[in-house]
This record gives sequence, C-alpha cells and structure tokens, in this order.
Amino acid sequence: MAGPADGNGVFDVTIIGAGPGGYVAAARAGALGLKVALIEKDPHLGGTCLHVGCIPTKAMLHASDVYAEIKEASRYGIIAENVKIDWSKIMGHKNQVVKTMASGVSGLMKQRGVTVFQGFGTMQGGGRVVVAGSAGNQEVKAKHIIIATGGVPKPLPFAPFDGKRVMSSDHIVNLDHLPGSITIIGGGVIGLEFASLFARLGTKVTVLEALPTILAAADPDVIKELHGALTRQGVAIHTGAKVAAVEPGKDDVAVRAAMADGTTQVFKSEICLVSVGRTPLTQKLGLQNTKVKVERDHIMMKDLQRTDDPDVSAIGDVRPGPWLAHVSSAEGIVAVERLAGKKPEALDFIKVPSCVYTEPGVAWCGLTEAQAKEKGHTVKVGKFSFAASGKANILLQRRGFIKLITDAKYGELLGAHIIGPGATDLIAEPAFALKIEATAEDIARTVHAHPTLYEGIMEAAMDAAGLGGTH
Ligand code: NAD
Repeated sequence: MAGPADGNGVFDVTIIGAGPGGYVAAARAGALGLKVALIEKDPHLGGTCLHVGCIPTKAMLHASDVYAEIKEASRYGIIAENVKIDWSKIMGHKNQVVKTMASGVSGLMKQRGVTVFQGFGTMQGGGRVVVAGSAGNQEVKAKHIIIATGGVPKPLPFAPFDGKRVMSSDHIVNLDHLPGSITIIGGGVIGLEFASLFARLGTKVTVLEALPTILAAADPDVIKELHGALTRQGVAIHTGAKVAAVEPGKDDVAVRAAMADGTTQVFKSEICLVSVGRTPLTQKLGLQNTKVKVERDHIMMKDLQRTDDPDVSAIGDVRPGPWLAHVSSAEGIVAVERLAGKKPEALDFIKVPSCVYTEPGVAWCGLTEAQAKEKGHTVKVGKFSFAASGKANILLQRRGFIKLITDAKYGELLGAHIIGPGATDLIAEPAFALKIEATAEDIARTVHAHPTLYEGIMEAAMDAAGLGGTH
C-alpha cells in the first residue's frame, strides 16, 4: 500500500485534477505502490464527468426514458394514467447518484493511500506545485506531475453564459424547473443528448447546427436514422444554421441564426443551451514554469502521455481530442504504469467507443466505411436491422441497425456503428473485437445467447463474413 510522501516530503507523483482521468490515475498509482498527491480545486472529487457531465446527464436521461416508456406502456398492456413529472425528484435522484459515486471516489482514494489536497494547483517548476485552497497556500513536491485538469464549456464569443437565459451544460444539470422551451445551439453530443432528454419530457426543443448534419463524426446512415428519430420526438432540427446573435431578455431569449436557405431567423425560447464544444483548463496552471508545449490552449503530446517536459505528463481533455471520460481514465492508467516502470501499451484512439446517450442510443468504434476506403481497404459491410431481432421486438424498439465494417480480403473487423436499443452497451463487443483484431467470422462463430440484443452483432458479422444471416 502506498502512503504519504517520503521522509523528505516528496511524492512520487502529483496529479492535478481529480476527474475520471486524475482519480483513476491516482487509484492505479496507489495500487502500484507509488506515493501519490492528488490536487483538486473543487470541494469534491470526480470532476466534470461525475458532477456536471456523464453521470448527472445520464441519470436525467434515464428519468426521461422511464417517463416515455410509462406513457407508451399501453402498448404492452400496462395501463398507466395520470403520469406526471416531478422535476425536483428527478434532480433529487440525480443528486443522490452523484453523492453516492463521489463518496465512493473519496473512499477509493483513502483505500489506495492517496493524499488529497483541496485547492487550485499551480506548477512552479522542479516538481513543485503550490495549492491555493481554503487552508491557505501549501507546497506539494513530487518527482513527476500529471496534468489532468480537463475542460469547461466554451461560450460563443458574442454570448457569455449568464446561467439564467444563456446556459452551458453545467447550468442545465442544475436547472430548478423543467423549461417550457429551449433552443440548443450546437447539434453535437451534448446538444443532442439534452434535446432527447427535454423533448421526451414535453419541452419544445429547437436545435441549431452550423454544419450540414447533426453529429458530424458519426456514420452517415446513423446520422440519418437519428435525425429522423429526434424529429419524430418533436425536436425541430435546423442544420446549416449559423448562430450570429443571442439576446437574453426578461422572460425569454432570442437566438438569431443565418439559415441554410440564406434567410435570417429568430428563435425565441425560455432558455438557450450553448453546446458548441469545450475549452481545456490549462490557464493559470504555471505551464510557463515547465517545458510543456501548448497550442491553442491544448497541451501537445508525445507517446504514452508524455509532454515536452520529461517531468510532466498529461491526460484527458487538456490535450487535443478525443474528449471522453473513458479515454481519460485509460490514459491515466498508461501514464502511471509508465512511471512505475511497467510497459503499458499506447492507446489507439480510433478503436475507443464513442457513445451518445440519446433515444435511440448511438455508438461507434473504429473506422467508418469512407475512412476504411480512404485507408485503402476493400470494404465488406455487414448489416443487421433491429426489426429482425426477437429481443428488440419484445422491447418494441424495432428501429435502428448494427453496421460492421470489415476488410473484404482478410475479414478483419475495421469498425462498428450502432443505432438502436442498447447501442451504448452493445458497442463493448466490437470494441473488444477491434482490440484483439478479430475477424467477422470470429464474431459470427461466437455463440451469442438468445434472445438478446447482442445476437444482432453476430448476425451483422455473419452477413459480413458471407455466412448468411438466420433472420
Ligand atoms: P461537439 O463538438 O460534439 O458539438 C458542437 C457542435 O456545435 C458541432 O456540431 C458544431 O458544428 C456546432 N457549432 C459550433 N458553433 C456553432 C454555431 N455558432 N451555431 C451553430 N452550431 C455551432 O461539442 P459538445 O457537444 O459541446 O461536446 C463537447 C465535448 O464533450 C465533445 O468532444 C464530446 O465528445 C464530449 N462529450 C461526450 C459525451 C459522450 O461521450 N456521451 C457527452 C457529452 C460531451
């Protein structure tokens, strides 16, 4: 078991930031016997993901799933009348989940012998970090520093967040009432998850996306399916809509956008959400006291989480993308295993799963068909529609599909794209298959339990491998 600093007050590693990158790195470092200092500016551990990101939004989304399902329950023969929403209880559930998980993180840090410092950490050079916290200034010394400070929502240059009419995702997860209407600026991951949440709870939702499509990084067939599904839920989606002004008023907010057809339109709603990306938290960290290279606020990376300063590593949202909690955690493990003298494998970003927790859910990993062709592969696509899945029919969620991209010559899986029931869980199987460089036939000949949604992956693999599907 690791413990506090050595006799000279020096830790093996100081980690700045206790989000899913920092606290996972600290836990693994502690387990490896390193003496670890973990510095966190907020009063609680867990970072964006636990307090204003992944966990609260998914708790809120689950409430909207339940509400939508109960309202439709007569389709299964369950009659539920007078179904109502109690927003304060939805938030209560969300708060309870966050509290439970945060106390779990604190417990884990204690168990792994991690010394936690509360306050804002600024690097001074030579492994020293000054922590400015409620207890005044403290200096923490270590042989190595890992920067894991994450990021914050990016405002539009002409529309600062006010937390009343012009909101970031940080504000939305703490809303004190269910809004009657919302204009969402940015049809990326955050914008669409909130669109799906609010539309199903009865809020009038408008999404304004500057690009020609929502969720531009996804597979084009997936985008088409998601666009249709959200539209059926009542979300008004405008693509090619570039927001030029946001005017908060007393009772509403007006969002002015240059539309794809050349006109200018004004969208009025109770609140607006600005979800146009996030900005890394690299300011005031004392980077000038190190050799770390920074470009447009992002830390430039070398292999295995190294930076240009041999004594400083970085993980998570402070470096150029992908900005995903699970990637930050995996990077944290790589960084501390390297420091502990182990030989961790570098992460291959293309293989990590991307998940969007809309209804229907969306998930993908690996290459799209177009990317695979660009890389010179002769592509064989295997597809399975949930309409043919027994389990999806039982769930009355027949829309959506699983699409596997494989190399026609060797049969190797190159990518997977899923939209439909269970997508964000199902993606684990193709992500594993990519990791071990499995072929479509390996997946097809793995016996999958019946009736499950996973069978769809086997069916798509059978299609790709030319083994014929059974449905
Ligand atoms: P994003 O980059 O995913 O989407 C932002 C969207 O805003 C883009 O489509 C962009 O074209 C659009 N946009 C930019 N300026 C605009 C303007 N003036 N008018 C209209 N549209 C405009 O960013 P995000 O949704 O804010 O998410 C931030 C990051 O957090 C992403 O990297 C995302 O992957 C990550 N995240 C991931 C999850 C998840 O994994 N489920 C959830 C939340 C956030």
